[in-house]
Amino acid sequence: MYYEIISSGSKGNCVIINDVMVDCGVSFNKIKDYLYDVKYLLLTHIHSDHIRPTTLENIKKLFPKIQIIGNHEVHQMYGVNTIVNAGFPVETDDYKFTSFECEHDVLTYGYTWVHEGEYIIYATDTSSLENAPNLHFDYLFLESNHCEKKIEMIQEQRNNFGYDAYAGAKRHLSTQQAKAFYYTHRRNRGSQFIELHKSSRFY
Ligand SMILES: [Zn+2]
Ligand SMILES: [Zn+2]
Repeated sequence: MYYEIISSGSKGNCVIINDVMVDCGVSFNKIKDYLYDVKYLLLTHIHSDHIRPTTLENIKKLFPKIQIIGNHEVHQMYGVNTIVNAGFPVETDDYKFTSFECEHDVLTYGYTWVHEGEYIIYATDTSSLENAPNLHFDYLFLESNHCEKKIEMIQEQRNNFGYDAYAGAKRHLSTQQAKAFYYTHRRNRGSQFIELHKSSRFY
């Protein structure tokens, strides 16, 4: 099992898990050397920190063998090879990708799949994991955006901040929520929790 977090957070998202890349919200230069070993690109949603349009164009043009999978909103905006619907698995030569709906302000999907017997879940930009499949996982790539206590503290002083930190944070999964999911959905103590999309201010 190999994974590499190229970037995660509001400045850009792209994670490689074996021969699967999730999102491409970074510059093409940053990922082009990895793309020779990538067979599948899973896209979670249309936000530009997850899909950088020029990067996706370059992947299509220069790496046409990579199968690009995304929901119908992503397809409408950018075009994918395979449209995925929540709950209906996409069968490929190597994996069966199952998607589930996340809760965000645009249509956002999380994904699960199995690599050599190990169960993987990937979910980011969601205020809840209640639609995630009730399985036990070996690798849990989960948004861990902010600490709830920090948000509460900041909220108390919000007049000094001048904006509603809580409203922004509510669109994202807190560290506490992610950890709760990890403990109830890990296969065993060896299961790994990989935190995604940390806020630079509220984590
Ligand atoms: Zn994001
Ligand atoms: Zn987003």
